[in-house]
Amino acid sequence: MTRRTAIILCLWTSVVARQHARAEETSVDTDFAAVNEIVFQNALHKNKISFSVVDRKEIERITKALVLVPKEPCECEHVETAIFKKAKSEIFVHFCSHCFDIRHGGRNHRYKMPKPFYGQYKRLLETHKKDNPTRRSR
Ligand SMILES: [Zn+2]
Repeated sequence: MTRRTAIILCLWTSVVARQHARAEETSVDTDFAAVNEIVFQNALHKNKISFSVVDRKEIERITKALVLVPKEPCECEHVETAIFKKAKSEIFVHFCSHCFDIRHGGRNHRYKMPKPFYGQYKRLLETHKKDNPTRRSR
């Protein structure tokens, strides 16, 4: 591939991607107000950690921290997920310390990690680990 072709191809791809993003931007669900359960999963640990939050006040604290700012994609791998469950639907998010990606319509809608949310998550994760010490095998 010549350099010129590569540049044209690259420009074309980004234009298509942008149009695609605009078309779907309206349909991505970022309404966390009616969430009644949050299920966190962390696959980093040997024993996959999973815990759920159902306390209304806790849910309110967490969802209030979700101020979403779109961001450029990055190459990191996400082993942490949060499923925000509502009465009739759910919002699936995979995240790391700096990304908050909503999986919707077969693609990722990328946002910057809202720092207070990550802090809350870390706190809940530590509490969960303390309450459920993992037994070492071998
Ligand atoms: Zn990331």
